[in-house]
Amino acid sequence: MKAIERVAVLGAGVMGSGIAAHLANAGMRVLLLDVVPAEPDEAEKRAGLTTADRAVRNRLAAAGLETAKKNRAFYVPSYAANVELGNLDDDLARLRGCDWVIEAVVENLEVKQKLFAEKVVPNLGEGAILSSNTSGLSIEAMASVLPPELRKRFLVVHFFNPPRHMRLVEVVPCRRTAPAVLEGMTALLRKRLGKGVVRGKDTPNFVANRIGVYTMCNGFRHMADLGMTVEEVDAVAGPATARPRSALFRLADLIGLDTLFYIAKNTRELLPKDKDRDEFTVSPAMEAMVAKGLKGNKAKQGFYRKVKGPDGTERTLVYDLAAQEYVEASSPRFASVDATKGIEDPGKRLAAVLAGTDKAAEFTWRNLRDTLLYAFRRIPEIADDVVAIDDGMKWGFSWELGPFEMLDAIGVRAFVERAKRDGVKVPPALAKVERFYAEKGAKRRFRTLGKTPGWGDVPRPPERIDLGEVRRAGGLVEGTDKASILSLGDGVLCLEFHSKMNAIDGDVLAMVDRAVARAASDGVGLVIANHGRAFSAGANLASIAAAIRERRFDEIEALIRGFHRALMGVKCAPVPVVTAPHGVALGGGAEIGLHSAGLAPHAELTMGLVEVGVGLLPAGGGTKELALRAIRLAEEFEADVTPFITKNFRLISMAKTSGSAAELREMGMLRQGDAVTLDLDALVYNAKQRVLGLAPGYRPVSPASDLRAPGRSVAAGLESSLWNLRVGGFLSEHDEKLGRAVAGVITGGDVPAGTLVPERWFLELEREAFLSLCGEPKTLERIEHMLKSGKPLRN
Ligand code: NAD
Repeated sequence: MKAIERVAVLGAGVMGSGIAAHLANAGMRVLLLDVVPAEPDEAEKRAGLTTADRAVRNRLAAAGLETAKKNRAFYVPSYAANVELGNLDDDLARLRGCDWVIEAVVENLEVKQKLFAEKVVPNLGEGAILSSNTSGLSIEAMASVLPPELRKRFLVVHFFNPPRHMRLVEVVPCRRTAPAVLEGMTALLRKRLGKGVVRGKDTPNFVANRIGVYTMCNGFRHMADLGMTVEEVDAVAGPATARPRSALFRLADLIGLDTLFYIAKNTRELLPKDKDRDEFTVSPAMEAMVAKGLKGNKAKQGFYRKVKGPDGTERTLVYDLAAQEYVEASSPRFASVDATKGIEDPGKRLAAVLAGTDKAAEFTWRNLRDTLLYAFRRIPEIADDVVAIDDGMKWGFSWELGPFEMLDAIGVRAFVERAKRDGVKVPPALAKVERFYAEKGAKRRFRTLGKTPGWGDVPRPPERIDLGEVRRAGGLVEGTDKASILSLGDGVLCLEFHSKMNAIDGDVLAMVDRAVARAASDGVGLVIANHGRAFSAGANLASIAAAIRERRFDEIEALIRGFHRALMGVKCAPVPVVTAPHGVALGGGAEIGLHSAGLAPHAELTMGLVEVGVGLLPAGGGTKELALRAIRLAEEFEADVTPFITKNFRLISMAKTSGSAAELREMGMLRQGDAVTLDLDALVYNAKQRVLGLAPGYRPVSPASDLRAPGRSVAAGLESSLWNLRVGGFLSEHDEKLGRAVAGVITGGDVPAGTLVPERWFLELEREAFLSLCGEPKTLERIEHMLKSGKPLRN
């Protein structure tokens, strides 16, 4: 398959524009085309434009691009420059220069066939790939209008909405698709676009939507049978049972009720042989909601509606399906759901709910019983194995466990017994299975079904390093309950955090010291990375709050000294340390990255120094590092340091976080040579490669001794802008106090401009300022509020 750099996207609607943006995120050049409007709109007419003008002719593509920008589909706004606009009449010849053409026009077979036959086929370049984003139309029916030679390069590549954020892409070949094309596109989607690829078949709605929409419609039915309300169902169908917060009805609002019901109807009609097809039905009361315009989030009203009271406060109403009107939302409590509080393992949460005896437990049992049996019966109809269905539900519907992983968590035997007690027919093949997954050495294996059941290896691409597998293969060097040092081979060690929420405390910092020392003595370098939801949200706030309350300031001081010792150890290590954060890297988590020789982040990363949100300032070397970087930049450009310091002061005092790893470059936190990884599974591998790249001839960094402190005059400028903001009502008194503390540290304290100070000097200022803020009652209020609500308090 030829290399893919230039891609055309046909159709600039919800999906086309989102796909175009994500291709641009991956650095591809995109041509986005849509139909030519029949006539100019009112604004165009007023501007004297006609359908002969390009602005009118490209209007739909331009509108798609604007929507993508508004929806933050681009990692950073400037990436939109990779997208060129055009239309499906004037720009067809440009398809010849494209390596991949993606069709994302309306879901209508005739429209797609006509587009292929009349516009794509005559203009497609030699060797170019053609794909359709259809959600459920038959691929063979689409392929039938293509010349046989082209069918080898044709397939369905089904992105989920929104394409930037949803990990799942389903790939479906037609009978003639060449294996090399299928393999090549799968690798491209995975490695370049960071997607989780599931192989589907030519069946309506493919894998994830088939199971996902089944579980939703089945849930609607059991809810009615059990006389439950919308909020009661949502209280249990989310994280308590290993599924996302959107649960059932918030998810329906997100998808759009019209779209969801359309997929359900479509599935029912296209599957005459599916014995469960009647399940894809919704009640007349729900159908009526669509007719009334209650279509979900896009209409700002669906099963939920937000309203503002006379005092401006927002509250949520919920749709009462029996009364067919909105009522005040309540927060139902169930003992079975309460029993899951504090349980991290999703399988154990699910088991805790199913062990309950209330309505929520009964609903979960009935809904999952039917869904898991349905999923089992769909193999091999919609997918070849359990892994494909599990991945589809995890990546496409954000379930924490796929259906077959749920069966393992419940216990297949127990599940079968209970289903039989309900009088439900259980396939004999399921009764013979003990579990669907097992570990053999480092390998994860899955149960294969079919005529000769056995075990297969869960595929693991060579560029994936799974730390669990490393551990099982004997790669643990040493570890505590909070962090481990693992060997990744080739002399590279990995420090993995696994404390609660990966919070950093003295014990974790001691492991940082040990990991650096071990890498220096036994290896060539160190990776700091972990799996799970987030890299680290920073220092352990609960223990800082307790120490403040009990006035154990010496402990806090020891913590800060521990941070300084460990992170200066990272920075000045004799071997390279590369940090590979994903998800969230805040406060202390970000400071680890800032002290590393290399940052190798996942593309979706929220990183920043957010300490002021909890009434503190970055004192793990973060304020020091931003001061140092500003000073060095000013030196490099032989320029005044003030604008550089001001920019970094703002990052800290406004607690700025990145919306993507790409944004870190603009924030000055990503340096030359630091590359962003889109494929989450390749994160640790890429960080290891970076270490191996840096290791030969690595020149350790020494602590700086020659920093020209910006000094008191720059601090005074920052302070006066803080004063203005406070007087203008934009900052509280405490905000101003925090800003002054940051200004004092980042400028190097009360010294004349240009005073030469060592790096250590800034660290001491950080420590003093941090301890002084710990004595502020409003700081404790901020910390306690964050611990309770997860949100910052402005007091
Ligand atoms: P959309 O309605 O937002 O966009 C469709 C685009 O097709 C519009 O820009 C429209 O101008 C264009 N179009 C209409 N008639 C056309 C014609 N005759 N010739 C060429 N272009 C024409 O739809 P969407 O949601 O972006 O869906 C596009 C495709 O992606 C569909 O096949 C859909 O099933 C699939 N899909 C949608 C979602 C989703 O959540 N919306 C998810 C996955 C896949």
